[in-house]
Amino acid sequence: MTESTPKKKTIVSGMRPTGKLHLGHLSVLENWVRLQNEYSCYYFIADWHALTTAFDQTEQLQENIKQMTIDWLSVGLDPKTSVIFRQSDVKEHAELHLMFSMVTPLSWLERVPTYKMQLQQFGEDGKDISTYGFLGYPLLQAADILLYGANAVPVGEDQVPHVELTREVARRFNHLFTTDVMTEPEALLAKIKLLPGTDNRKMSKSYHNDIALSATPEEVKNKVASMITDPARIKKTDLGHPEICTVFTYQGVYNEAEKETIATACRAGEIGCVACKRCLTEKMNAVLAPIVERRHELEKDDAFLEDVLRDGAKRATLEAEKTIAKAREAMKL
Ligand code: SF4
Repeated sequence: MTESTPKKKTIVSGMRPTGKLHLGHLSVLENWVRLQNEYSCYYFIADWHALTTAFDQTEQLQENIKQMTIDWLSVGLDPKTSVIFRQSDVKEHAELHLMFSMVTPLSWLERVPTYKMQLQQFGEDGKDISTYGFLGYPLLQAADILLYGANAVPVGEDQVPHVELTREVARRFNHLFTTDVMTEPEALLAKIKLLPGTDNRKMSKSYHNDIALSATPEEVKNKVASMITDPARIKKTDLGHPEICTVFTYQGVYNEAEKETIATACRAGEIGCVACKRCLTEKMNAVLAPIVERRHELEKDDAFLEDVLRDGAKRATLEAEKTIAKAREAMKL
């Protein structure tokens, strides 16, 4: 970097390792890829966060981390540009989380909108997640972000309250210890295309309505074949309503150029659902082919994947240690 080159701003984002990712994640990842050139990016696999709700299901954790790393690299995250790492490899996340847990009023955590909602949702599924760790996970998120002096956090609308809490924690810390070590981040609202599952509900592995980024052409074909269409269309000449059809929602994402032509033909009863699905399958497989190909290469190279995570952890630790040293000094530790 020359003296006149302005320092890039920093962003931080993470994902819980849930195993192979699906098309619902692709838009988020494509946004991360775009941000790589503009920002100094820290992308982490949030294995400690996974424990907040799945503390009793750790058998698959390492495999899930591996599969997520493969997916990230397959879609174009570049470990030479971005810092890609496993959260638990950088212990400073835990130390800053502990510091924040000492100074944050309990009421701030109890009022986080997702807290009560998720307690209830998991409760309905017969799982008690009323743990200390689950209540405190927004503070672990605050630590994840503030550790790297992030200027911005790429989020969807629903996560804005978490960024707001992080800002409040930063302000409180700076005020209590008369320091400016914590940088208040902005929410960087991402334009994420929300894709429903094949049954038009939210896409989720647990609903079996997802399409994996690793899906073979045959698997994509079968998934598209199972998609819900306009029930009024029995034969090709029936007049259709594309706006209520899942296949059409996907055409809007994967076949934007022909979307309007398809809508017109569907309404006029000039295209059959089988042909429409065949066309969508081709478009989707064209998008997924390079991802699947790259995946096959990476799957064979465990050593490379470990190197990426180890190198990322080293680079992340260098930055994290600086923040922790300043925070300790401010707290007189
Ligand atoms: S023709 Fe296409 S858009 Fe119209 S109902 Fe069939 S699958 Fe849906």
